[in-house]
Parts: sequence; structure tokens; C-alpha cells
Amino acid sequence: MELLTPSPPTLAKYGLSLAEWQVIADQQGGVCAVCRTLPASGRLVIDHAHGAGWKKMPPELRKQHVRGLVCYLDNFKFLQRGMSIVRARSIATYLEAYEERHQPDNRRGQTNDRPQEDHNLARESHPGDP
Ligand SMILES: [Zn+2]
Repeated sequence: MELLTPSPPTLAKYGLSLAEWQVIADQQGGVCAVCRTLPASGRLVIDHAHGAGWKKMPPELRKQHVRGLVCYLDNFKFLQRGMSIVRARSIATYLEAYEERHQPDNRRGQTNDRPQEDHNLARESHPGDP
């Protein structure tokens, strides 16, 4: 599937020319900036920072707040208003903690970058553990 170009009204909404959009797409390798894949639809959404006054902003100013091109799922689920760098890092830490707790036994010992105490700590903090 090839990356589809956005419609002229969509480009106008963000104050981007097709050439400017193409530069962003090329910089990302033609895939979603978050998951690095292209959905079957071939469409990527133009993601923008949700700063105050964006809705009233003229398009030529709006394009300065364009963050990149992402797939619909990443835009809809993760990058809507309310997402911040701090929250995104916190989510990563949260998921990593779960992965560490649920590492299969045969993979333990292969990663020597974390001290054993970490596993014990993570276990004790899990309320569901026996
Ligand atoms: Zn994505």
C-alpha cells in the first residue's frame, strides 16, 4: 500500500502545501511517526500540538504546530488532547514494569542489565501475586 496524499481542504486546514506535506512524509519514511507502519488505508493523519487557541489560529500559524504524520489509531488513541511527554514516559514505564514482572523464566538471566532486586521489588508491588 502506498501513502495517499491528503485532500486540498485538509492541507489548507493545516496551512501546508503539498510540497511541505511531502517533506514531512519523506522525513518519516512514508510511515506513521509512532508505530512506523502504514495502515491498509494508506492514510496518515496530520498530528498537531493541542495548544491554546489552535482553533482560532490562521492556517499559516497552524503549520508551525504540526508535529508529524501518524496513523489513525495512534492519533485517535494516544495523541489527542491530554497527552504530554511526561504522561507518555509514564505510560512507557508502566508497560515496562508489567513486562518485567511477566518475563518468561527462560528469558531471565539473559538480560544482565538489571539487578535481581528489581524483579523482587516489582513482584512485591503486585497486589495479585500470591
Ligand atoms: Zn501508528
